[in-house]
Amino acid sequence: MSKAQIKVYAINRTLGSGTYGTADFFKRESNGSLTPIGLSSVKAGVNYDMTRIRLDAGNMADSNYSAIERTKTTGHEFGHALGLGHFEEGLRPHQYAHWMRSGQKSLAYPTSEDAAHLAYKY
Ligand SMILES: [Zn+2]
Repeated sequence: MSKAQIKVYAINRTLGSGTYGTADFFKRESNGSLTPIGLSSVKAGVNYDMTRIRLDAGNMADSNYSAIERTKTTGHEFGHALGLGHFEEGLRPHQYAHWMRSGQKSLAYPTSEDAAHLAYKY
């Protein structure tokens, strides 16, 4: 069984202006300490043991995020924790409605496009 973890934090105006959520990746060393892994390494297939999700409630409030936009942003960051990217670049860029698109989007539920991304990856 995997011991991979997702840790989620609600923060208040900690991320840069215009950033509402982040997902950062870490490898657990044999002594238990955590080493950050860059996104490019994650994209290249390097395994990670922990994802830290930070959701910036203050920045969302400053941009008048609706409840649906907050839900979408939260789901978006969990998508990153599962190893999904934005699908806005690379071999098959597209702009269909899905939670992994960046930005302030009013999308209450993940779409069949999100399901296709997960099915493709796993
Ligand atoms: Zn993102």
